[in-house]
Amino acid sequence: MIVMKFGGTSVEDATAIRRLVSIVKTHLHRQPIVAVSAMGKTTNGLLESARLAAAGDLTGANTLLDSIESHHLTEAALLSLPEELETLQSDLGKRFDSIRLMMKEINQTGSIGPRHSDAVSSNGELLSSMIVAAGFRSAGIGGRWVDIRPMMRTNDDFTRAAVRFDIANEKLREGFSTALKDGAVPVTQGFIGSTADGATTTIGRGGSDYSASIIGAALDADEIQIWTDVDGIMTTDPRIVPEAAKVRIISFAEASELAYFGARVLHPSTLLPAMAKEIPVMVCNSRRPEVEGTAIVRIAPPSSAPIKAIAFKRGITIVNVASDRMLMAHGFLSRLFEVFNMHDTSVDMVATSEVSVSMTLDDTRNLDAVITDLQAFGEVAVERDQALICLVGEQLKYTPGIASRIFSSISEINVSMISHGASAINCSFIVSNDDVENAVKALHLEFFSMLDAQTFEPTLAATAVA
Ligand code: ADP
Ligand code: ASP
Ligand code: MG
Repeated sequence: MIVMKFGGTSVEDATAIRRLVSIVKTHLHRQPIVAVSAMGKTTNGLLESARLAAAGDLTGANTLLDSIESHHLTEAALLSLPEELETLQSDLGKRFDSIRLMMKEINQTGSIGPRHSDAVSSNGELLSSMIVAAGFRSAGIGGRWVDIRPMMRTNDDFTRAAVRFDIANEKLREGFSTALKDGAVPVTQGFIGSTADGATTTIGRGGSDYSASIIGAALDADEIQIWTDVDGIMTTDPRIVPEAAKVRIISFAEASELAYFGARVLHPSTLLPAMAKEIPVMVCNSRRPEVEGTAIVRIAPPSSAPIKAIAFKRGITIVNVASDRMLMAHGFLSRLFEVFNMHDTSVDMVATSEVSVSMTLDDTRNLDAVITDLQAFGEVAVERDQALICLVGEQLKYTPGIASRIFSSISEINVSMISHGASAINCSFIVSNDDVENAVKALHLEFFSMLDAQTFEPTLAATAVA
């Protein structure tokens, strides 16, 4: 059994869904379970519509919903078997009717809480999966829509719900084993789940990758495939560096660091369930299925390249606490971190000096409360609009002179914090948001101008440049 996850661009319209069906067709002998994201940018559209409704613009909210609905209906009509079309359109229509009711409520309340937000945004996956299942049937392959919510049990931390693995694993195993028995391809949703009392939740933006890995681990899949719009894990985001090369094979540890530190191609938690069960993960391009993709495996073969890829995350905030009391006071850091813990805020990077400590945060939702509590420890300074750059490679720890190469290649750029050695396979540092593109380009040039052909495959863009 394998899990095949298709992201937003891979289900954006009828053409993409036909491509998806033909990709899955070549894997039918491996008993695929298909998990999909919302079509294209539907999640953003639904959330924007809710925002408009909350801000008092119900007409604007409904106009936006109309265009989302019309796209879904048009693509469904292009894909569906004629005899199924009426039912499919009525099912999709009912879903939009219920979203419109929610918009009305949100408009009346004048605000959108996390529970409402999930009730709205979860519809993207519910809708796309219905259309994809219909796409299978019109291609002569049994496709069965499976609502994942009763199986993917989560807590009630709406918009970033944590999966209750103790319950979900068993339910996923039972539910999908039954679904697989009749030979049809189960088509289910990424990103969504539900609480014990049946409220719909989501597990965080970009979470469909994570869902696929959770399903795969629960069912002991042979492989988890993440189908997206790039050839695999690349040496960096090709939107910044078009000549970025594909990494052929990478370890779980390396890919996890990349995902955690901003490589959007994988949700940060994706690899945890797969790693625990040692299930290989493939990242492939749904527009170019003939290209092999990146294999993420437990142990990657040795490579002559010290760095496998560069990730970055914009919008990082640095919090600095300066305090004389820190000097030789044991327990100081533990009390300090307790503040972050209390406010559900995780810290990515830490640097300490004798009298001060700097920490970087990605999630600043509770920043005000954090700052208030930190003021008990000393003077607190906050620097926003920073970016984290992270270079990852298992050879990093064995290669002398790497730090010097990294920082000489960006010598014009101000680096405000550095962390090297904590995990032995990554070197991370902070620059300003404005400098991140130039820094990533310079680092890419430094480390990926010459490629080890066993580890990397150059892209067409790079070949054209060469
Ligand atoms: P999906 O909708 O399929 O989940 P995403 O947009 O979430 O796709 O992720 C794919 C995107 O991730 C790519 O288009 C690319 O711009 C971005 N990306 C960032 N870093 C990397 C990287 N190192 N390798 C590949 N893609 C990356
Ligand atoms: N549709 C969701 C999002 O846009 C989940 C995903 O695409 O992975 O965040
Ligand atoms: Mg994604």
